Amino acid sequence: MNLPAVTTGFQAPPLDTEGLEHVLAMHGFMSEDRAAVRAFGRVIQRAELEDVFLRDFLMRDSAPSLPAAAAAEAEFCNELLNVCLWDGGPDWFNRLANLWCACRDVGVDERFAWICTGAMLSACREKLVGGRAEIFQLELDLLTGLVRMVWALSAHLTAISHLRERTLAMIESEGLNTTGVGGRATFNHTLGKLCEIADEDSRLGLMIIRLHAAPAREVLMPTERDRIHRVLQEGWRHVLRYEDVLCCVGENEWALLQPGMRTKAQVLLAANKLREVAQGALARIGLDEGMELLIGGACAPDHGTDAETIERAARDAMSAGTRAHHGITMYGDSVKQALVAENEVEREFLRAIHLQRFELYLQPQIRSSDGHCDSAEALLRWQRADGRWVPPPTIFEIAGRLNQQGRLTRLLIARAARMADELARSGVPVKIALNLTADDVHDPELPDLIEQSMANWRVPIGRLGVELTEGAVLSDKPVVETVLQRMRDLGMTVALDDFGTGYSSLAHLRRLPVDELKIDRQFVNGMHSDRQDAAIIDAVLALAKAMDLETVAEGVETEEQAEALSRLGVDRLQGMWFSSAIPLSRFVTWWLARQQTLAISKA
Ligand code: C2E
Ligand code: CA
Ligand code: CA
Repeated sequence: MNLPAVTTGFQAPPLDTEGLEHVLAMHGFMSEDRAAVRAFGRVIQRAELEDVFLRDFLMRDSAPSLPAAAAAEAEFCNELLNVCLWDGGPDWFNRLANLWCACRDVGVDERFAWICTGAMLSACREKLVGGRAEIFQLELDLLTGLVRMVWALSAHLTAISHLRERTLAMIESEGLNTTGVGGRATFNHTLGKLCEIADEDSRLGLMIIRLHAAPAREVLMPTERDRIHRVLQEGWRHVLRYEDVLCCVGENEWALLQPGMRTKAQVLLAANKLREVAQGALARIGLDEGMELLIGGACAPDHGTDAETIERAARDAMSAGTRAHHGITMYGDSVKQALVAENEVEREFLRAIHLQRFELYLQPQIRSSDGHCDSAEALLRWQRADGRWVPPPTIFEIAGRLNQQGRLTRLLIARAARMADELARSGVPVKIALNLTADDVHDPELPDLIEQSMANWRVPIGRLGVELTEGAVLSDKPVVETVLQRMRDLGMTVALDDFGTGYSSLAHLRRLPVDELKIDRQFVNGMHSDRQDAAIIDAVLALAKAMDLETVAEGVETEEQAEALSRLGVDRLQGMWFSSAIPLSRFVTWWLARQQTLAISKA
């Protein structure tokens, strides 16, 4: 097939040492041939070869008339004459393959590679044997080695040429190249076609690229999003090859198809490049803060031979990588293992939710004015069958994946209501603070659900409070404000969790319907070593006072911290210094003992 000449800049998939061995072996090249070719290089100088070759070859009748083609041919020949300098490695082959692609780009005839290599072999023979009638065994050996090597080279160039044409024909017929970004339909179609022509020598790399915004960045203005898309696509265009196909397949998601990749490592290399370019591009427009690029990659035919399997593999790699906090993840054994483990934990989660195996432990909060404990934070605990504890954020992540978050929250609300009843019946007047997720406060039925649960156990609703992070409260959806307001109307307190770690401005805080601020444990932790942490605590306290909000310090681990925080005027203290989160029965015992100690010390 001879396509019209287009300057594509198509890059041949480079051979590595192993790839070269394979190509040579396929054409009968033996280890002694390597020594023969090297010996030839010692006997015949490049300059001598050049004379004969140029005389015979470039003066031929069929030489091209187009200057671009003539120049490309000359460059190819110039490199070919370096046969005398071949070091046995793949570099010379790779240089020739790319020069050959450049020749094809400017319309050099397909047969040129064979004609040219043939002419070079004649020149070699003429220089070595000349017009002599007899030929020595040694000379024969040298020539045989050369013939086998050049035979392998020509076959390789032909294969590259075919790959180039197949790929380009497909991309041309789709009207795609790096100047355009396809959509989902183009992606599906092109992926299917490229999977068909991918093989072990010319892999198809697929990358799914997702731009992930940190919670505070979740709400990107449409103009910002457009700008980001534009700079990313522009930045990438400069590093993509002609035959790469970039498609936008989701709101902040792209897929990059890279045909003609020799190894899986090459796909990984390309992923790193894309990430680097994206970071630079985002930084230039000042939108890199809180933005992360996640890439999942897979190769055909290694990880699948049809479009669906290969896309699944790239997406699985991305999800496994995201959970392991890796920016770039290629599909492989570790991804497979992670998926198996995930399936296992998901199955166990579903069983646990069915059997209501999740627990809420209580962590006391101490009033700094008199040392009394009048509230406790409920913290989720789940122990797997093998004894391992799963961190609460991970539990919610699994619940989210399985679409079970609502069910888990309902279960925890019911559990908290029952615990409030048990505390009341044990004579422990302690309020429970339940953590809620951002999704929870988008559910308009939540306040009624809580009210109903508490009514079922006949416990006053004021015995329950909720904790929410800034990210959850700072929503532009009106439903959130309605839900928060309704909870407060019912008599529940709303605490703003992890205060100081988010992005909300003080002006924003004024508008939030909250009753108390929880100073994040990272500031408490650093208050004695870091002046900035101490200053933040000071500022939060001043702010809370001005707005008439209660304050709770979390993560209090030492007596020194507890005393300093009390002195500064924090209303309540929570942390290991007093107690970690413990099961309800232990909490009751702990509370009664504390009451007794307080009574004795008072008396
Ligand atoms: P959080 O709301 O900030 O909870 C406080 C975390 O600090 C808890 O971790 C608690 O065990 C830990 N902690 C308490 N005292 C100390 C201390 O003195 N030093 C240190 N270093 N840590 C202390 P945990 O239980 O692993 O919970 C982690 C997060 O998971 C919570 O952060 C909360 O965001 C979420 N979470 C926990 N339980 C629930 C729940 O029932 N529902 C929801 N929606 N989220 C929950
Ligand atoms: Ca909390
Ligand atoms: Ca917290």
